[in-house]
Amino acid sequence: MNIQMVDLKTQYQNISAEIDEAVLEVIRSTQFINGFAVKDFQKALEEYLGVKHVIPCANGTDALQIAMMALDLQPGDEVIVPAFTYVATAEVIGLLQLKPVMVDVDPETFNVTPEAIKAAITSRTKAIVPVHLFGQSADMEPIMDIARHHGVAVIEDNAQAIGADYTYTDGRIAKTGTLSDIGCTSFFPSKNLGCYGDGGAMFTDNDDLAEKLRMIANHGQSRRYYHDRIGVNSRLDSIQAAILNIKLRHLDAYNANRLLAADRYDEQLSQLSGITCPARSRFSTHVFHQYTLKAANGMRDHIVQQMQAKNLPCMIYYPVPLYAQKAFESWVPEGYSLPVTAQLCDEVFSLPIHSELTPDIQAVIIDAVSEAVESF
Ligand SMILES: *Cc1c(COP(=O)(O)O)cnc(C)c1O
Repeated sequence: MNIQMVDLKTQYQNISAEIDEAVLEVIRSTQFINGFAVKDFQKALEEYLGVKHVIPCANGTDALQIAMMALDLQPGDEVIVPAFTYVATAEVIGLLQLKPVMVDVDPETFNVTPEAIKAAITSRTKAIVPVHLFGQSADMEPIMDIARHHGVAVIEDNAQAIGADYTYTDGRIAKTGTLSDIGCTSFFPSKNLGCYGDGGAMFTDNDDLAEKLRMIANHGQSRRYYHDRIGVNSRLDSIQAAILNIKLRHLDAYNANRLLAADRYDEQLSQLSGITCPARSRFSTHVFHQYTLKAANGMRDHIVQQMQAKNLPCMIYYPVPLYAQKAFESWVPEGYSLPVTAQLCDEVFSLPIHSELTPDIQAVIIDAVSEAVESF
């Protein structure tokens, strides 16, 4: 049995007729750049998310960068980010000569908390970038309240949670990525909605911001050969858009399968002593981009070693806090540490989860984790 973190091959085989036809249609049309496929996908995603504007771009990191550029910030302006996330969230902040201010996360949901954000706000804070980590929403209602109170913009990093629903206290439900000024996502192949290469998009309900985002993604161009500002060249490839347009129709089913797989893991793994299964927040559905557990007191490293010895996939997302990364040295005060982030980097491990995961494959993984726990 060849078990992987994600099984893109089986997923493709199950929809290959549709995908092949869609790809060939683009090739036959020769509309390779911003052709019908990009427009069709943009419309379909706007409808799915219930958002006014989707602006496709080349990848998730570009989406974050373009979103940040659209806020017209000044060098040295502070941007609050969780310290427990993928590097791209904070990388673009440094790239634009802004100052990443890293804050702690919730030990159960792994998401940045409104309290941590509130405590980090200063007069120089200009933006907040909550990340919907591993597939469920950060608590956006209080985060947006804090941001509005201080006149600060919010960009959601929704690369790991496309399709998740956030419930407001009044019962209203909305998709993650549409809860702030700008939502950003990635269509990297292993994401919940992944293409067969690189891709990304931004979402907004704000017409002015949408125009700005489109302009920045297209060389700062207002009309052809008239450049009003410095931009970038960041396009979603037409062939990738055609693939995404097919896969979007399957997204809810894919996410439902991930949830079923997570339920099966929970049932077996929650009985192991010293293991904590992923928590589910009360205000968000979970689309399980990752199934991430905790094991304390050195057991995490033992489990990872045992899994590796059996050639079974098991990953650590993320082993190093952002503030401990060399790349961010110049922005981080000497000796800076955040207790929850530091502890999570020592305790978390992620097991395979994807839309094609079956109970028999999970049984092999569950047995291996159980044996590792017993032998610790
Ligand atoms: C994948 C990911 C990104 C970056 O997406 P790319 O398309 O690889 O550039 C950004 N943030 C988070 C949280 C991610 O998981």
